[in-house]
Amino acid sequence: METLNGTIGRCGAVRATLIVFAVTCCYAQAQYDLLLQGGHVIDAKNKISATRDVAIRDGKIAAVEARIDPAQALKVVNLRGLYVTPGLVDIHVHVYAGTGERGSYAGDNSVYPDGFTFRAGVTTVADAGSSGWRNFDDFKQHVIDRSKTRVLAFLNIVGHGMRGPKYENDLSDMEAKPAAEMALRHKGLIIGIKTAHYAGPEWTPVEHAVEAGTLADIPVMVDFGTNHKERPLSELVTKKLRPGDIYTHEYSGLRNEQDKSGHVNPALFEARKRGVIFDVGHGGGSFAWRIAVPAIKEGFLPDSISTDLHIGSMNSGLKDMLNVMSKFLVMGLALDDVVARSTWNPAREIHHEELGNLSVGAPADVSVLRLERGEFGFADIYGARLRGDRRLTCELTLRDGKVVYDLNAITRPDWDTLPRDYRQTGDARWDAINPPPARRP
Ligand SMILES: [Zn+2]
Repeated sequence: METLNGTIGRCGAVRATLIVFAVTCCYAQAQYDLLLQGGHVIDAKNKISATRDVAIRDGKIAAVEARIDPAQALKVVNLRGLYVTPGLVDIHVHVYAGTGERGSYAGDNSVYPDGFTFRAGVTTVADAGSSGWRNFDDFKQHVIDRSKTRVLAFLNIVGHGMRGPKYENDLSDMEAKPAAEMALRHKGLIIGIKTAHYAGPEWTPVEHAVEAGTLADIPVMVDFGTNHKERPLSELVTKKLRPGDIYTHEYSGLRNEQDKSGHVNPALFEARKRGVIFDVGHGGGSFAWRIAVPAIKEGFLPDSISTDLHIGSMNSGLKDMLNVMSKFLVMGLALDDVVARSTWNPAREIHHEELGNLSVGAPADVSVLRLERGEFGFADIYGARLRGDRRLTCELTLRDGKVVYDLNAITRPDWDTLPRDYRQTGDARWDAINPPPARRP
């Protein structure tokens, strides 16, 4: 402050004291940086589905109460009629973009996360094996460390990652030890091992992935590749995978998830009893109504809802996380249930129990959703439509307590109430979209 540095003498000292007092005093009055007022909170971990106020301070959830005094907050946002959920956790995406490699998920098939996540209420994603131990550092440096989205990763058991069939079918590049070592070097960031797209009849990719997962004490996610009678799905889920390992693409129908009579493969129910996890992984090729609708009717629900976001799915049947969640609403799941399977369940699956909930002290990753009623349609990967009467859209997203997306500018003042020469309207304590520039010293 220039007053403190530039003014000498008794008078200046008094002024400085007064300014310091004033700043401290005002800040002390605002006990919270942000108050989300009157929304319907859905928090599966804390078993809340009710109207609640949510207060945030220093990037963390500070209080969740029936009523919190708005005078205690620097910024108050009225959310009546909207749903307030933990930031959505999407554990199957491909975001290793920017390497310039064509036809590769460690390249052009991936998307940068921030353009797809916050606008769909997603605050955490897990990249599903786009990189392996040979290129993880590059992925981290160029995408993970530069994204506003919280990006975690399943490390591909293939050292070169998901660079196409030439790499992904090379059994000699699926070493458990270097994969586990890389995972241990980045504990909490590498949250699992992925095996995917394998075309051969061997069990090697699965076995080595499980070996790496065991060494690093993290789960394995399996995209079971080409269907082979030598390695049937039933054996994978009832024998090869460990409790806590994740079978993704559960409604693809490509690997006998549905038996010939049109019922869910009984091995999947047996595996679920053992603790094997089942994940949606919609993608561009892994979600068919003819598989999903009868499976849901039989009670085979997803443990976690995820997108498998990439360039081949982003504009087709998938679109985004909220579109997939809406599909499950339309198939008859309750909103609370759909939210639990998109927040608290996936957070636990990847061993990040600080996420996916709104407990006091948790990172304030929050999504504010609107449940629209009307006439809607939802396509599967084959372009078949299911009609529905509801759709979720995202109004507001917070990452670490700061607004990162605000569809209808509900956190903003009307322009004609501002001074003629107004500039930035936010405050760095709650705004990460366009906070005022840092003050010059
Ligand atoms: Zn995928």
